[in-house]
Amino acid sequence: KDTCKYSGIIEDCCCDYESVNNVNGAILHPLLQQLVTTPFFRYFKVKLWCDCPFWPDDGMCRLRDCSVCECPEHEFPESFKKPSPYILPKDDPVCQEGKPEATVDRTLDAKSFNGWVEIDNRWTLDDETDNGEMTYVNLQLNPERHTGYTGPSARRIWDAIYSEYCPRYAYGETCPEKKVLYKLISGLHSSISIHIGADYLLDESSYKWGPNPELMYNRVLKHPDRVENLYFTFLFVLRAVTKAAAYLDQAEYDSGNHVEDLRAQSLIRQMVHNSELQAACALPFDEAELWQGQGGPILRQQIQNQFRNISALMDCVGCEKCRLWGKLQVLGLGTALKILFSVNDQSNPDPHLQLQRNEVIALINLLNRLSESLIYATTIKLPTTDISLIN
Ligand code: FAD
Repeated sequence: KDTCKYSGIIEDCCCDYESVNNVNGAILHPLLQQLVTTPFFRYFKVKLWCDCPFWPDDGMCRLRDCSVCECPEHEFPESFKKPSPYILPKDDPVCQEGKPEATVDRTLDAKSFNGWVEIDNRWTLDDETDNGEMTYVNLQLNPERHTGYTGPSARRIWDAIYSEYCPRYAYGETCPEKKVLYKLISGLHSSISIHIGADYLLDESSYKWGPNPELMYNRVLKHPDRVENLYFTFLFVLRAVTKAAAYLDQAEYDSGNHVEDLRAQSLIRQMVHNSELQAACALPFDEAELWQGQGGPILRQQIQNQFRNISALMDCVGCEKCRLWGKLQVLGLGTALKILFSVNDQSNPDPHLQLQRNEVIALINLLNRLSESLIYATTIKLPTTDISLIN
């Protein structure tokens, strides 16, 4: 534990996967699965405009399963325009571009986002200004899954992230700050790959979806470091959520649906005040130890700039659905970083912490994705292989 406290990185000691899996499976995952279906948490405000500052030539992905359908107002079925019950008619032929999962739900308008501060997140480059370019996306209708986005465009993004902004750290690297960004991104990458493998288009002609365990194994599970980074990222975000408990407890969850908003608040309270979750690997990472040494502030600024560039890179993702989830999850990570590293005093959360509504939505949905990834990683039936890697 002492070593752990010093370096604050999970690989150095700290948690066993089994206890993390137990607490996730028994407590966190069931709560999150309910929480993300509530109106407050299922709508995300996002600018899906392709505005890549790095490679203007990178055109939009034209693959059918990449598209998030933004329909003209007149195309929406009447029932879809009403704020409640937010249900998309089954097999609705309108504006699906071949698949209902791609439909953007625009039943919320900017008024539903009232009551929360508009405050900059220094870790991300998101423009939060409400304007015509903003879309409200129903995340439940747009699950993160296989889209077919691959090849040079996708590779270019991951390459840029790893080579320019968060290079792999050398073995034996002693500066934990430098490891953090790499581990967070690698953990997120693992989670994205696991979701691609969990919900894969198995057969184009019949449009049959299902799990692809080989893909999960080859891309993530057979690489112990990628699994470890997934756990690290999960614990990092969980720690941010529990650290912001007081703020999240008092926040106003107002989507206009009183009953559902009370449910969201109650679920949040059950989650942030749960002592087992708070204790779950209390030191996956000790933020109080970081940025403290000589050069700490410069290092912190440097890592913050790198993370902002990663956030900007999300506008270059050439697949709209992937961009949606990329933006959401990077904003979620940026929010976790903001919570954990805007501490004034070294052990308590900043009493002046302020979060935007969209940040809280991103944070909780990211935690849900990571929590799901842990469940998939531990329950997927691998054809031949060594599942002991992850148990
Ligand atoms: P990639 O996943 O592209 O990996 C590239 C290289 O990175 C690998 O060869 C390996 O060297 C390294 N690497 C892989 N995983 C890790 C890890 N965990 N840690 C460290 N290094 C690693 N596709 C979809 O179908 N659905 C989506 O929702 C989706 N969202 C995306 C979001 C973003 C932000 C990006 C950039 C891409 C997204 N993609 C999505 C594309 C997807 O991530 C892959 O790029 C694509 O499936 C091709 O995979 P690949 O096997 O070539 O390896």
